[in-house]
Amino acid sequence: MRSHPLDHQPGVVRNADLAPLTTYKMGGPARWLALVDSPDDLVRLSEAWRKAPVPLLFLGKGSNLVVGEKGFPGLVVRLSGQFREIRNRGPAVRAGAAVPLPILARETVKAGRLGLEFMVGIPGTVGGAVRQNAGCHGTETRDVLVEAEVYSWSSGETTTRTPDRLGLGYRYSNLGDDETVLSAAFRTRPGDPAEGEATMREISRWRRIHQPGGTLNAGSVFKNPPGDAAGRIIDELGLKGLRIGGVRVSEKHANFFVADPGASPSEVKALVDEVRRRVAEQTGVVLEPEIRFVGEFER
Ligand SMILES: Cc1cc2nc3c(=O)[nH]c(=O)nc-3n(C[C@H](O)[C@H](O)[C@H](O)COP(=O)(O)OP(=O)(O)OC[C@H]3O[C@@H](n4cnc5c(N)ncnc54)[C@H](O)[C@@H]3O)c2cc1C
Repeated sequence: MRSHPLDHQPGVVRNADLAPLTTYKMGGPARWLALVDSPDDLVRLSEAWRKAPVPLLFLGKGSNLVVGEKGFPGLVVRLSGQFREIRNRGPAVRAGAAVPLPILARETVKAGRLGLEFMVGIPGTVGGAVRQNAGCHGTETRDVLVEAEVYSWSSGETTTRTPDRLGLGYRYSNLGDDETVLSAAFRTRPGDPAEGEATMREISRWRRIHQPGGTLNAGSVFKNPPGDAAGRIIDELGLKGLRIGGVRVSEKHANFFVADPGASPSEVKALVDEVRRRVAEQTGVVLEPEIRFVGEFER
């Protein structure tokens, strides 16, 4: 096979297994996987990429993704090192894109700053939260985001964008597939850490009761249609427990699809298609997936 400029980049591995890097723990390899520790390293890597561009995927905790069994035919980039730093624990907390959301929630509360407690239950990163406008319990990322620093791999430019300029909507941003979130600043208010801790405890308790914790899943499968809940519709059609291969609709929450160890990404996809088809046929509602399918699938 001919060599590619990415083959000679430090920190880049060929044919790297992605399954352990996602919450579904399934899927094929990345043609290239890069672990990047600083903005300078990211710029250098993007310069090599620009010589011969291939598809790009920025991977956070892989908590909203299904990677196909044939893998990702391009470069997967994972941020670490400096991207895991939290700075300025003042009114605006700036966090690197690789900071896990539960850590950000706990650290800000500990520092006497409130407002990010909702993040404690979302097992993703700051980058993934900006890209998806993640949210729960009545608060979304856009409600607390001041701005995000975004790097464009195509132009080599870094821009600072407000929620408006990111086009943040329900589980949506206008970020392109060649744009990396480097960091984000969040609005917080001073408050009693005990109050923040109580809120986080309540959120965690609610999740333990209502969601299939400790299982292989990627959170909500479908976005909620306007004025309704995808889980409620799926439940009402009696689809809890519906199974294709090693993947089933959770008995605890119908908008979570739980995989058995060894289940395949194509089985997740097939179950998503089947539930979508039945819901459309029986209710007329066309559900839109919230989880993202990436790479190549067998079926
Ligand atoms: C048990 C469970 C519960 C969940 N509950 C919620 C919930 O309550 N609310 C909610 O909104 N979501 C929820 N999710 C889904 C998921 O955690 C969020 O969407 C989260 O924001 C994804 O972050 P991530 O870092 O894992 O992103 P990934 O899954 O790795 O990636 C998701 C998308 O973000 C992009 N991305 C990741 N990092 C960057 C970056 N630095 N720059 C640019 N793009 C990037 C990826 O390319 C991809 O398009 C849940 C998931 C699980 C497993």
